[in-house]
Amino acid sequence: MSLPTITKQFELASRPEGWPTLENFRLAEAPLAELQDGQVLVKNLAISVDPYMRGRMNDVKSYVPPFQLDQPLDGGAVGEVLASRAEGLAEGDVVVHGLGWREYAVLPAGAVKKVDASLAPATAFLGALGMTGLTAYAGLVKVAEFKAGDVVFVSGAAGAVGSLVGQIAKQLGASWVIGSAGTPEKVAKLLELGFDAAFDYHDGPIKEQLKVALAGAPGENTGIDVYFDNVGGEHLEAAISALNTFGRVALCGAISQYNSTEPPVAPRNLALAIGKQLTLRGFIVNSYSQYADEYAALVAPLLTNGKIRYEETVVHGIENTAQAFIDMLAGANTGKMVITLD
Ligand code: NAP
Repeated sequence: MSLPTITKQFELASRPEGWPTLENFRLAEAPLAELQDGQVLVKNLAISVDPYMRGRMNDVKSYVPPFQLDQPLDGGAVGEVLASRAEGLAEGDVVVHGLGWREYAVLPAGAVKKVDASLAPATAFLGALGMTGLTAYAGLVKVAEFKAGDVVFVSGAAGAVGSLVGQIAKQLGASWVIGSAGTPEKVAKLLELGFDAAFDYHDGPIKEQLKVALAGAPGENTGIDVYFDNVGGEHLEAAISALNTFGRVALCGAISQYNSTEPPVAPRNLALAIGKQLTLRGFIVNSYSQYADEYAALVAPLLTNGKIRYEETVVHGIENTAQAFIDMLAGANTGKMVITLD
């Protein structure tokens, strides 16, 4: 079989102002570097589009460097090794790596992680068995210090991270789990996944909807113990009001603000954190990679026996990656948005 010498790849054509559009992206062809000792040539099977990539499209300093204009975009991907000059990696191995947004990639062995492709379809290693799953677990258990009996509220609950947070919380003994999402179909999906209550945040003030969702919680508990924040803004403000004394918040993301050109107006009630003695703690999943094995040991069996379900929205074809990214930001996905390459 002759090996590919060029790859299709997405480049950043211009920086988005507000919501990204297709004009911000360019699908180009580029030559592949010749394989050197210690490297592998990988054919991507599936690539990931994630909300954090929106931040990298701005020219600002952050915990990951910004994408450069006219340069290829990158991000999570899972692929098959087509050729290897690296010890321990062979043709046919399936690996996770960081050169997504393209068909093929040449990488040093140290930049790929071999996965057991017999465990699940390739896409799962970008979602429940990958970074997304670890984010849900680490945020809930290590950052928010969840314990059995807690009442949990998660926003962005029908998305990749959120749908796992709610289900993991239930499996670990949460007394009541509430999720918010953007459509009635997503709300129905959350109830099907075992959330105790769910609401569409478009249906009225979040504070009021949260009160209603809490009404069914068992016992004397009138508020929430853990808020897993994927959204920020009004969601965070409502959660602060509803948190119990010593409540904990995992600040995972603030997607309601990623495309806004105005500064956020909420939360306006942050001072409540003093009297309630709340903990609000931001985190980045990369700092929790030491828990990957612990997470896999807990969740892999639950995924296999169907106690935790992972949802995916699958788009086909490299050429649809930019559109899938834009659609994900707008809520077109339930569960993890992935792009498969045939
Ligand atoms: P996702 O939830 O699968 O997809 C994004 C979702 O955000 C959309 O489906 C949409 O669903 C929702 N959304 C968009 N605009 C919104 C708005 N204005 N208000 C409320 N919801 C809105 O994405 P994900 O990969 O699981 O990421 C979820 C969050 O976790 C993001 O904030 C992301 O940045 C964060 N994250 C953080 C880390 C970390 O290390 N800290 C790692 C991974 C992800 P609706 O239809 O429900 O609106």
